[in-house]
Amino acid sequence: MHSTHTRPARSPDQEADVQRLSILGSTGSIGAQTLDVVRLFPNRLDVRALTAGSNAELLIAQAREFSPACVVIGDARRRKQVEEALCPLGVRVLTGQEGLCEAAALDETDTVVAALVGFAGLESVLAALRAGKKVALANKETLVVAGRLVTSLLQDDQGMLLPVDSEHSAIFQCLAGEPERSVESLALTASGGPFRTRPAETFGTISKAEALAHPNWSMGAKITIDSATMMNKGLEVVEAHWLFDMPPERIAVLTHPQSIVHSLVVFEDGSVKAQLGLPDMGLPIQYALSYPERWAAPRERLDWSDVMHLHFEPPDRAKFPCLDLAYEALAAGGTAPAVLNAANEQAVALFLEEKIRFTDISDLIGEALGRIPAQADPSLEDLVACDAEARRAVLKHIPSIPV
Ligand code: NAD
Ligand code: MG
Repeated sequence: MHSTHTRPARSPDQEADVQRLSILGSTGSIGAQTLDVVRLFPNRLDVRALTAGSNAELLIAQAREFSPACVVIGDARRRKQVEEALCPLGVRVLTGQEGLCEAAALDETDTVVAALVGFAGLESVLAALRAGKKVALANKETLVVAGRLVTSLLQDDQGMLLPVDSEHSAIFQCLAGEPERSVESLALTASGGPFRTRPAETFGTISKAEALAHPNWSMGAKITIDSATMMNKGLEVVEAHWLFDMPPERIAVLTHPQSIVHSLVVFEDGSVKAQLGLPDMGLPIQYALSYPERWAAPRERLDWSDVMHLHFEPPDRAKFPCLDLAYEALAAGGTAPAVLNAANEQAVALFLEEKIRFTDISDLIGEALGRIPAQADPSLEDLVACDAEARRAVLKHIPSIPV
């Protein structure tokens, strides 16, 4: 076996300009699109670590192409397969959360792309920040669960956080060069998902296939279901709160089915700035890596020669109760957003296993939030315990599943 990697020969000067990446969750939707950005900029970006949950075949193929120093395979049963393929190429093979944290804090890495899905991504983001890395954050659940822990690390001058989520990237781009105090409010745009116009009375019969068919974006299964329930936007409100230090009453949600306007900032003089583009995560991923520069890229452009209608409407909060559940959890603070997140992760997993109905997702999250009291100023250990408790609370409601 031999490596087919395409790392270009660089002079020492060029080498000094290269940004070295650990891509956590490289086999997922964001991870794979990050590798597309690396392919566009081989002289600027270099991959030092790649990680996968269980897709050993894709991880091996990625490692053969990009020659990282190490890879992490989450599923220990696949370790041998990965070792047999990659050890002869000089690639170190790690497993588990320890492996992820090691890949996140690698000496030879400058930037960590955090593209795991869910609570499983939290500890590696904390490890990256503690090691002083720049973190390009796709894993919004990290900020939902542990926003205070993450921002306190940043205040201690540990590491740097750049948004990858398209709405937050849009806001970040609108804020460039503006005095912080001049911001009046933020408006996150939402596509409204596949059920924006579907009558609420039929929500009980929504199938998994229908919920997985997002009109504008091709993404991992969990965030696609979150988009269908609009919990994705709820999680993004919490994410925006921590990223931009903005109270919830100054963060609005606006339904915009075309996904062209990626979000807006309202300034105190009444001016509104928005960032526009085609729905393509390649751009926000790239901006998190190129910031404060912009790198010329051959992406498809918006075509202004055709008639374009941009439609906006308020979200239907009765039809999509997850949105208000997220605002409530943010207002309650402490561990409440961690309960929201864990109950959602568990309920979405059950929906994807076709064990509960679509409408059960918000009901189960509401019950978990009502049952588990919020605890102020949680430590990481408190958050881990709270995550487990909320998952158990959801499972208890499903009679056929032993807890
Ligand atoms: P995905 O399911 O496609 O990929 C997730 C990645 O994490 C995979 O590589 C998977 O192997 C890995 N992973 C999952 N669980 C793991 C575990 N327990 N241990 C180790 N590895 C594990 O998800 P995605 O759509 O790429 O989303 C990733 C994150 O980015 C999510 O937080 C999502 O909300 C956010 N995000 C995604 C998009 C998008 O367009 N896909 C847009 C905005 C934000
Ligand atoms: Mg988003």
